[in-house]
Amino acid sequence: MMNKWEGIVLKSIPYGESNKIVTIYTREAGKMTAMARGAKKPASRLAAVTQSFTHGFFLLRTGRGMGTLEQGEPIDSMRHIREDLEATAYASFVVELIDRLTDDQSQSPNVFSLLYDALHAINEQYDPEAIALFVEWKMLPVAGVHPVLHQCANCRATDGEFAFSFKEIGFLCHRCFHIDPYLVRLTPTQLRLIRTFFTVPIQEVGSLKLKKATKQFMKKIVRTVYDEQVGIRLKSRQFLDQLERTPELLPKIEKPQEEGD
Ligand SMILES: [Zn+2]
Repeated sequence: MMNKWEGIVLKSIPYGESNKIVTIYTREAGKMTAMARGAKKPASRLAAVTQSFTHGFFLLRTGRGMGTLEQGEPIDSMRHIREDLEATAYASFVVELIDRLTDDQSQSPNVFSLLYDALHAINEQYDPEAIALFVEWKMLPVAGVHPVLHQCANCRATDGEFAFSFKEIGFLCHRCFHIDPYLVRLTPTQLRLIRTFFTVPIQEVGSLKLKKATKQFMKKIVRTVYDEQVGIRLKSRQFLDQLERTPELLPKIEKPQEEGD
């Protein structure tokens, strides 16, 4: 059966002399893996369209076993993501996370929209670190984790002071702080931000300017949840952690001379 689907390339693995095995998250049919014959050859008409992050239309032949990618027609090659090391690193994290948390042919319009919005936002030069962080929070339910963030996870109160509990996977109110000795106390701003990250679409929050410390705080919470509840190791995360430890790896963007030195 031939299908023309809109999709985004999550990954592309060389296979044999000249082929690639490409994983595409499609809007219509979810995640699909297909053989792209000849795509490894630079002159192939499939070479460009099978690169990671490409958003396009894909003509896929499906049947028993692995499908075949017959044709591809790019809509957006995500040029900024390709050319900017930091954007590439965060976009790689986004596609790897989505790839690892979804199964072939499992269809979810929410996952496609999240992937679509996140990559376009990174490509349009929104803060890639914040976008990757939004994706981490929003993929929690896909990973089977449903944090309780609208009320106290223990007594269901909606008023009072709150903390994040890894044990209860969600908020605890001050009346229930005693049930988890390891909870993380939250300021009202942090509480609001966690709710925003979890519930609001990327378009509405993508333009938020977040401080480095705020992003680190949000990251620490969501990563602890992933480590304790999901337990996946991502290659791209190691590279990102390395980038954050050694920011001099990133090419310097021309900045006006700082005062006083
Ligand atoms: Zn409570």
